[in-house]
Amino acid sequence: MVDHLANTEINSQRIAAVESCFGASGQPLALPGRVLLGEGVLTKECRKKAKPRIFFLFNDILVYGSIVLSKRKYRSQHIIPLEEVTLEPLPETLEAKNRWMIKTAKKSFVVSAASTTERQEWISHIEECVRRQLLATGRQPTTEHAAPWIPDKATDICMRCTQTRFSALTRRHHCRKCGFVVCAECSRERFLLPRLSSKPLRVCSLCYRELSTQKQREEAKERCRGSPGQSAYLGGTVSGASSGDEDDSDEDREGDWPSQVEFYTSGVSWSAFHS
Ligand SMILES: [Zn+2]
Ligand SMILES: [Zn+2]
Repeated sequence: MVDHLANTEINSQRIAAVESCFGASGQPLALPGRVLLGEGVLTKECRKKAKPRIFFLFNDILVYGSIVLSKRKYRSQHIIPLEEVTLEPLPETLEAKNRWMIKTAKKSFVVSAASTTERQEWISHIEECVRRQLLATGRQPTTEHAAPWIPDKATDICMRCTQTRFSALTRRHHCRKCGFVVCAECSRERFLLPRLSSKPLRVCSLCYRELSTQKQREEAKERCRGSPGQSAYLGGTVSGASSGDEDDSDEDREGDWPSQVEFYTSGVSWSAFHS
């Protein structure tokens, strides 16, 4: 595809430019054989609202970050190894067109492109890279994906009890297993989800029951095999009222897009793929 770009001067310059935009806040990106294939602005659906994010597609990783100053300064860099990525096209909504989901074991999220053509370009380029990465590493595609978080705005009531109405005082929480927006009462439990974190995470009551049952079944199976029981902390109820504050701690710390910036008319050039 763009193998001829590997280890070329132009490719090194492009990668150096990306590194310099992220500055000290980003990771070194240059690696022997790594090629920067394309870049562009996509709209990422975050918990509170959809925000523009700069995306860079390399032959082995997808990098994105928030835009401080277009083509000058980016921050909050995220790096996703492509062999972990699965894409899922999504239907259009009234608010958003040209959407698709980027799914990995750790995190899944929805992005949209400025046009159908751009969406097609991104999807086909990413899928081709994923295919090549899987071939090169001999890995199987990831089948278990993190549930994307349902945006806050999608619901005014708890999606589990359907009773609690959210307000400034009654905060929304997200189940880390199913991604549903739930009330504090419906998400009192914590469970260890090793793919997501080394610490037990907030889960809704339904997921907690399912995860516990599954866990018990696995433990019973272990006992039958006669292996010594392992006592690991696997979760439990959190005592006391939950303030909900910790929900902010693992939100993307990406900051708000300054509302006075007219993004669509600011002369940002859209996605470009190198050939
Ligand atoms: Zn509830
Ligand atoms: Zn859940």
